Amino acid sequence: MSDPVPARAEIVVDLAAVRHNVRILKDLVSVDGPVALMAVVKADGYGHGMVEVAAAARDAGADWLGVATIDEALALRAAGDRGPLLCWLSAPGDDFAAAVAAGVEVTAYSVEELEEIAAVGPARVQLKVDTGLSRGGAPRAAWHDFFAVAGDLEREGRITVSGIWSHLAASDEPAHPANDAQEAAFRDALSLAASAGLDPDVAHLANSAAAILRPSAHFDLVRCGIATYGLDPAPGVSPRLGLRPAMTVRARLLMSKEVAAGEGVSYGHTWHAPEDTTVGVVPAGYGEGIPRAAGNTASVWVGDSRRPIRGRVCMDQLVVDLDGELPPPGTEVVLFGPGDLGEPTAQDWADAVGTISYEIVTRVGGRLSRRFVDADETAGGDR
Ligand SMILES: *Cc1c(COP(=O)(O)O)cnc(C)c1O
Repeated sequence: MSDPVPARAEIVVDLAAVRHNVRILKDLVSVDGPVALMAVVKADGYGHGMVEVAAAARDAGADWLGVATIDEALALRAAGDRGPLLCWLSAPGDDFAAAVAAGVEVTAYSVEELEEIAAVGPARVQLKVDTGLSRGGAPRAAWHDFFAVAGDLEREGRITVSGIWSHLAASDEPAHPANDAQEAAFRDALSLAASAGLDPDVAHLANSAAAILRPSAHFDLVRCGIATYGLDPAPGVSPRLGLRPAMTVRARLLMSKEVAAGEGVSYGHTWHAPEDTTVGVVPAGYGEGIPRAAGNTASVWVGDSRRPIRGRVCMDQLVVDLDGELPPPGTEVVLFGPGDLGEPTAQDWADAVGTISYEIVTRVGGRLSRRFVDADETAGGDR
């Protein structure tokens, strides 16, 4: 990816990859009949840029967008999005009225929230039931009252119950017993809701991993976040789908220099050169969201090879081992990308620092600039 005005350090997001991934996911879940696809673009599109990713996902046929907060939903509306849009995380005092006025579907977790929403109605509300994640949503003991109140409010014309949904705890581990238990609990919730007179448009349970690995959990709609960005929700378990990672993080080498055997590198000298070598200084650090834990664990791509990070990652910079080479200042450094050239991926970084790819892509930012490209659809490998 050549750049006429090289940035010090930047995030490059390939919107063609997003469209490609959305089409793959739509095809995948539509095999046994129509299932709607929601592209989840919360947390600034997992660090990729919420508004731009949302538009690309809509272009490629995403039926719904999903976000956590009302603020995120309103930002999408302000950017011109008019399609079906659900948000699901509200705090007491949040502006339901603004969400409802903007045609955003909101989620209720409790009778109290239902009443708060009905007070600003008439609203389209989705009911979140806790089937075993033990996070948000109405617990099983509350379902009866929750559905009864929702039914009453609907009959009074104050809300429309447009959906019922839940979220899985272990969908990246297909053999985990929580999957069967939660799916069964969700079916119980749906029948209880039906007996309370509710007839929602959509029932949904699956995130990316369940969209890919658990067809029985597809129901009417799947909520795909990480797979939209081309990353694997269940590394080592998912089949190869040809998803393309959309994010590349790159920088320009500040300088390269010789380091003699025995010299210590970066704060605390946690790495000493075992023999004479060269190192390069990369202008990105934890101020850009690069995990400090990448010190002495992750690698970057310089020239045509992977170069290990040596010593601690600092706030503004990090140091890599150039193994005797002295590339000029300005040489491109790819911290991670789709992996087509051999560069590390976000998954490689996640493995190196003991986290998941979600956290790697979502946390990068800070002083990094962000640039969008529309790479040739035929470029890129199959993974
Ligand atoms: C973030 C989120 C998703 C998306 O999960 P992925 O694993 O990224 O596909 C789906 N549903 C809910 C409720 C979420 O919070």
